[in-house]
Amino acid sequence: MQIDQNKLKMLQNGVVLDHIPNDNLMKILHILAWEKNDHPMMVGANLKSDKCGIKGMIKIDRYELSDEQKNSIALFAKGATYNIIRDGEVVHKEILIPHEAVACGLLCPNKRCVSRGYRSLFMPYLYDEQVHVVCHYCDLRFGLDEFKEFAL
Ligand SMILES: [Zn+2]
Repeated sequence: MQIDQNKLKMLQNGVVLDHIPNDNLMKILHILAWEKNDHPMMVGANLKSDKCGIKGMIKIDRYELSDEQKNSIALFAKGATYNIIRDGEVVHKEILIPHEAVACGLLCPNKRCVSRGYRSLFMPYLYDEQVHVVCHYCDLRFGLDEFKEFAL
């Protein structure tokens, strides 16, 4: 699928993730499985934001996030906005808050965790304003910077 770049700039149908913490942009691209996802994407990094200093932004043509993707992205982009665009209009706007168990794309940092063989499941919680997670299988707690591997 190929579309004109200007068309993606003025997205008619698709999604916009805005106010993504710049440092977590790559993790979010992994959650979106960007290498396998053939929808045209436009990724902005190091963008100026009044809200959070420097931000990232992702636009995806003719796409909608699954709940799993949305919840996983919320972990790494607390406070980011998720917009759904239809016929050039914003039909849904949501601020992402990590609150649900997440199973999408992340491998448990505990190398001996049984979930690594098939599917991990993490429950987010806030500690000192920071998002942490607890693994449903090994019961260990992790900060988000401990996630280095992604199951694709
Ligand atoms: Zn685990």
